[in-house]
Amino acid sequence: MEVLLNVIKNIFCVNEFQDKCNKCSLCHLIDLNNLPSLRIIEPDGQFIKKDQILELKHLFSKDSLYTKESIYIIKNAERMNKDSANTMLKFLEEPTSDVIGFFITNEKDNVMLTIQSRCQIIEVDFENDDNETLNLTNDEYNYYLDLTKTYLENIEIEKKKLILYNKEYLSDLDKDKITIILKIMLKKYQELLEAKVKNKTLTGDFTFLNKLSYNNVKGKLDLLIECLKEITYNVNLELFLDKFVLKVDEINNEII
Ligand SMILES: [Zn+2]
Repeated sequence: MEVLLNVIKNIFCVNEFQDKCNKCSLCHLIDLNNLPSLRIIEPDGQFIKKDQILELKHLFSKDSLYTKESIYIIKNAERMNKDSANTMLKFLEEPTSDVIGFFITNEKDNVMLTIQSRCQIIEVDFENDDNETLNLTNDEYNYYLDLTKTYLENIEIEKKKLILYNKEYLSDLDKDKITIILKIMLKKYQELLEAKVKNKTLTGDFTFLNKLSYNNVKGKLDLLIECLKEITYNVNLELFLDKFVLKVDEINNEII
């Protein structure tokens, strides 16, 4: 979003836009998320709903009074359901004013093909902060991120029989790999806690964690910090992991 907002400032800015203009009223309004000709749409609940697109279409049916073009951003574009995607498609096909639209997604393949074909696709490969500290290539990082996501989904949502699940899922991984997964987990729970403090929710791939309570997340963070210390010692990996999921279970079952 930060990068994209800079791109948009670049389009609107009345000064010669530099990294941080913030002087002109347009850049300032973008920072405040208060520029009427810029609309950011994100999922309302699980999906982006048809009404949200209809409202956008209505708002942008006339030329903007503020800027030459109106701009909209669709966050998590893969979460348009069939109704909203079809409405979006009509909007793309029959624009009634000067409009620029950005669709952001981590799952391009889940965006309706007819929408994709009407867009210019720009792949962005961000150097990831978490990645930097882990010293992985982007591909490696994404690989571990995926592993972590699946693992967390199973222990937090599916509530599998955790010890058995550990054995089937993690048994091929060595200590270094497990450590990377734990570190990514730590990072995700940290982000989640931060979001909760600000009364926000996580967006992106780990939204399924949002349902955890503050205390639950806090408990998991303490546990992970403890485990990351412990794993640097010469531990029996299998026992270590069994203990880990038992603790996770304990935290999940605590009535808070
Ligand atoms: Zn500016």
